[in-house]
Amino acid sequence: MKRLTILIALIIPLFFCTSWGFFAHQRINNLAIFTLPSGMIGFYKKGIKYITEHAVDPDKRRYADTLEAPRHYLDVENYESDIDSIPKKYNDALAKYGLKHLNANGIVPWQIQRTYYNLVKAFKTRDSIKILKYAADLGHYIGDAHVPLHTTNNHNGQLTNQAGIHAFWESRLPELFSTNYNFIVGKAQYIENPLEESWKIVKHTHSLVDSVLTF
Ligand SMILES: [Zn+2]
Repeated sequence: MKRLTILIALIIPLFFCTSWGFFAHQRINNLAIFTLPSGMIGFYKKGIKYITEHAVDPDKRRYADTLEAPRHYLDVENYESDIDSIPKKYNDALAKYGLKHLNANGIVPWQIQRTYYNLVKAFKTRDSIKILKYAADLGHYIGDAHVPLHTTNNHNGQLTNQAGIHAFWESRLPELFSTNYNFIVGKAQYIENPLEESWKIVKHTHSLVDSVLTF
């Protein structure tokens, strides 16, 4: 009996740890719905449970699909010392670096564009299940593109003697402090060029790597 109690005591935190690791992604997808314009918000509110719960599907797919992992990050330094030297378009980058390099060093800006196109296609065919699926995925990849440690080869602080900082920053800190975060971001803005915007995001995120490591 005592052994069973110990076992349960060990398993329970383990369970919460793995689910809490998904906390931030679910929060981001959930809150994004409330920024949508009036013509869209009705549909998305009906799907809010799906969009929230499935915010973490791309991370779950990493265990089953080896091609999934590079979709979540871009190790900028492994491409160029200056991010602006990386070709913006996927095919140009593919021609310059080769598929093996892309899969090893991440493709998040192009994954955002790809998921956006899938979402547009789902809207055109009025496939509500796919709209929810790709919208949930898109929220995930855009969320990842805002994580500084997803834009550097020092992704877990291993090069600066800070191993473990990745989970600490993206899981533990939001769990502890999200009640103090300011979630008011205003209304969603129409984006003319999603790929250009993806690069803008990644560039800004990458500029914050030093601050994350210093703090
Ligand atoms: Zn991810």
